[in-house]
Amino acid sequence: MGASTTFKVIIAGAGPVGLLMAHALSRAGVDFVVLEEQDEVVRHAGAGIALMPGLVRILDQIGVLEHIKRQVFLRNKMDLVTNGTVLQQWPLFDLVAEAFGYRIIQTSRKDVIEALFTTLPGHSERVKTASKVSKVDLRDDGVTVHLANGATVDGSILIGCDGVHSRTRQIMQQLREEAGGSAAVDDDATVMERRFAGIYGRVDNPVGIAPGFFYESREAGFLMQMSVGDDVLWYVLLRHQLPSPGRTRYTAEECDEFAKALAHLQIAPLGLTFGDIWARTDKETAVLVDQQQGCAEKWHHGGRIVLVGDSQLKVTSESGAGFMAGAYSAVQLANELQDLLSKQSGPGQPSASDLDAAFARYQVARMPASKAMLESDIARLDQSMWGSWKGWLMDRWVVRMPWVDMAKIFKTRAIPRMAGAPVLRYVPFEGKSGTAEWQIKVPRVEAL
Ligand SMILES: Cc1cc2nc3c(=O)[nH]c(=O)nc-3n(C[C@H](O)[C@H](O)[C@H](O)COP(=O)(O)OP(=O)(O)OC[C@H]3O[C@@H](n4cnc5c(N)ncnc54)[C@H](O)[C@@H]3O)c2cc1C
Repeated sequence: MGASTTFKVIIAGAGPVGLLMAHALSRAGVDFVVLEEQDEVVRHAGAGIALMPGLVRILDQIGVLEHIKRQVFLRNKMDLVTNGTVLQQWPLFDLVAEAFGYRIIQTSRKDVIEALFTTLPGHSERVKTASKVSKVDLRDDGVTVHLANGATVDGSILIGCDGVHSRTRQIMQQLREEAGGSAAVDDDATVMERRFAGIYGRVDNPVGIAPGFFYESREAGFLMQMSVGDDVLWYVLLRHQLPSPGRTRYTAEECDEFAKALAHLQIAPLGLTFGDIWARTDKETAVLVDQQQGCAEKWHHGGRIVLVGDSQLKVTSESGAGFMAGAYSAVQLANELQDLLSKQSGPGQPSASDLDAAFARYQVARMPASKAMLESDIARLDQSMWGSWKGWLMDRWVVRMPWVDMAKIFKTRAIPRMAGAPVLRYVPFEGKSGTAEWQIKVPRVEAL
């Protein structure tokens, strides 16, 4: 492709987005290293994660999809109130499958990370654990990344996929301030606001709870979402809290207290309460975490540092679209980099200003969708957790009227939006399709 052989990308964070970014670069023939602060990449952290069809298509394109072990396919969504009243039931998941040929997949965060990690070419040398990024020096021809263990790593650019409390984002903010200040203030305190706290949990062998359902049970200030397969059930129970900046790490005791205080909530028909589910939850993997909402204003600095994933946009688990949004950004950035490097003549590296322009194009391309996703997340939670009287009215009455056809609204509003999902432009691929046309396609192998 004519790319410089010396161009090297440093990725901070081996979460789902960092590993997907690594795959995208690997497919473009770009050298990379992934730095992960934890001692292990594949570990039990978190519970269920949703893979939306556009993301499933990307995972299929890079050959990772079939390696995800435990995949649960749902059919229906059931909305309830926490007194057991069923508000509505409709075949959301079947509609998606019909439209795209891919189903929404429920799986575990661990299984996704394991599939991305084990299929990444050269993963044992290129993914470094116990490597916490703490500081970055900008050089004329690249970056020097300092790790908390005292080591340094040199590269051409740093991509910060290091999550909602991104050290890379903080470093960018410091560098901007040192360079004379900036209107965009992207520190944790101002950009990522904690408005919710929630438990991610898993129950093995959920016998007696109808499989194939996505149950969503609510009352003012609470929302429980539960995906039930034949042999596993994943859930997230969200509670509203007063908006605040910063970070809290909850202990197992605090998680237990949080769960027991909500034990009375009915979360599925036939009187099933959260207390019943908590009693059967695998306590080793259950976590209580804050859920933030926010979008950074400045995603790149000096043509050398750029953000992707939760470091750049954070939405709650309500829409199941957090990983999807980060994956779309990773794909967009990879397309920009591959394009830039493929036009590079000779062995030299692209200049910082060329890289800066590529990063700017990436931000311009992804910012409107990111802002729209954040606004939609805020509005959806207002409705599904009855955050205001308007939200309550919409959720409890307006959308429940017999003449409101949820399936039709979903087909005309959500499906066209989902059909705009990006793919890697340089990886030949046909993939699956359904009744809705994917707007962005890549040529098949023989056409390239
Ligand atoms: C522990 C944990 C559990 C989660 N559980 C769920 C879940 O059950 N369901 C769900 O839908 N979503 C879950 N999420 C969120 C979900 O993973 C993200 O919203 C989404 O997938 C985007 O992922 P990401 O890779 O951008 O960020 P993250 O998933 O947050 O990954 C960031 C990675 O960067 C690493 N990192 C952070 N700082 C540094 C540093 N300074 N140097 C090097 N590495 C660093 C972290 O250890 C982590 O591996 C969880 C996130 C975390 C961190």
